[in-house]
Amino acid sequence: MPDSSALPDALAQALGAGAVLTGEAIPPRHHSDWSGAAPVRPLALVRPRSTEEVAAVLRLAHAYGVPVVPQGGLTGLAGAAVPHAGGIALSLDRMNAIESVDAAAATLTAQAGATLQAVQEAAAERGLRFGVDLGARGSCQIGGNLATNAGGNGVLQFGMMREQCLGLEVVLADGTVLPMLRPMIKNNTGYDLKQLFIGAEGTLGVITRAVLRLRPAPAAQVTALVALADFDSALALLGRLQQRFAGNVAAFELMWRDFVAASLQWQSLREPFDAPHAFAALIDVTGRDEEALRGAIEELLGEAMEAEQVQDAVIAQSRAQAAMLWKIREATAELPTNMHPPINFDVSLPMAEIGRFAERCRAAFDARWPGHIAVFFGHVGDGNLHISVDGGTVGHDEAGVERIVYDTVAAFQGSVSAEHGIGTHKMPYLGASRTPQELAAMRAIKAALDPKGIMNPGKVLD
Ligand SMILES: Cc1cc2nc3c(=O)[nH]c(=O)nc-3n(C[C@H](O)[C@H](O)[C@H](O)COP(=O)(O)OP(=O)(O)OC[C@H]3O[C@@H](n4cnc5c(N)ncnc54)[C@H](O)[C@@H]3O)c2cc1C
Repeated sequence: MPDSSALPDALAQALGAGAVLTGEAIPPRHHSDWSGAAPVRPLALVRPRSTEEVAAVLRLAHAYGVPVVPQGGLTGLAGAAVPHAGGIALSLDRMNAIESVDAAAATLTAQAGATLQAVQEAAAERGLRFGVDLGARGSCQIGGNLATNAGGNGVLQFGMMREQCLGLEVVLADGTVLPMLRPMIKNNTGYDLKQLFIGAEGTLGVITRAVLRLRPAPAAQVTALVALADFDSALALLGRLQQRFAGNVAAFELMWRDFVAASLQWQSLREPFDAPHAFAALIDVTGRDEEALRGAIEELLGEAMEAEQVQDAVIAQSRAQAAMLWKIREATAELPTNMHPPINFDVSLPMAEIGRFAERCRAAFDARWPGHIAVFFGHVGDGNLHISVDGGTVGHDEAGVERIVYDTVAAFQGSVSAEHGIGTHKMPYLGASRTPQELAAMRAIKAALDPKGIMNPGKVLD
């Protein structure tokens, strides 16, 4: 194996000096991601401009046996994009072109470094919408969204990133390009290889381009914030909404009171209701006519109030009001500045169990750390619950908090990661959601596609 210290020069020869940074020249933001994992300065930061250049980087890294960590927008919350000291951080930020939008076929082709927001905006310009949305939209990249199989606010209506992807171009560990950019919904020609790379967190190859599925933009969308007394009322309301507005319930974000209170305080917002309530659900419903839709939602909420499922409700009368209501939910961006530090979880559970699960976790936290601060919120319509615990209020016992949450997840037969992935943070707990047989199959796939183990080593699988 050649001496890896010669690799930066070999990369600079292949890509040009401007595409390879070393030492102090590597911006610190490339040393870690949003997870707060300890920063690591890589041997080199490489910023290719094309698939051919990505392939050249991987051919060289493969020859030198040097780890490669793909980096997107670095908004990941599992430590998966943190580089290795002796390895390459491969940033996709210069591969950010929206290559084409086919409005008739409702597809969009983009390079992996395009931000989620750029994709959303390109779709909107053609009267279409992209089905995934999340708070980090301005920074996270389509490649990172695919590599983490991101979810977010639209999953209830359109599914996760996996469901938005028709075609993918991937570069394997040895530099082989897999051009799987076929823009068809139906394609039963053996293994669906592209799905292997979606959710693989960069451990099997580098995603360079994608063909994404778009949807018709709804003519109308109405947002409401609804106060609820308990979790079962939330489920009953979701059932009502799904029945009345089948296929048009775009979001059902449930916030426990602790989350709402923290969000209002952190962002200096006014209490949305006359009095605090145990739960608040933020709801988006899409349709054809805004007035008619608002009327239908009002009617449904009135019925739910009569049935004592809903305690109070605010229906946004404008986009600006809707944005204000959404601001309460998007307080997640405030977590790092207001918790010291936040210990984050994104678990999923059988939907009916989420309320009991949250109660059990909270009781265990209370028993061990009286006075601790924790907030509960989630895309409950798809079984996903987020918990953020203020590390400063639990004696920085991250492992203790994790043990409580993941043991409870296992007891409820849930998943330790609904959206954010495994990275390094959840690696010790992967066994709580995967059997030894499943883990062995995952290792066999990894060994087949990346025999030297250079793709994002030490992430997902140990
Ligand atoms: C405020 C905020 C809100 C968020 N809300 C949500 C949410 O609602 N739902 C959700 O799912 N997530 C959410 N996230 C987490 C994060 O935004 C997602 O995981 C996102 O998909 C990561 O994209 P990224 O481009 O930032 O990837 P990065 O953080 O750069 O990388 C994440 C992983 O993907 C790999 N990777 C990146 N690009 C590529 C590529 N081109 N090829 C192969 N591998 C690659 C990296 O190696 C790493 O393993 C949120 C984060 C923040 C900060």
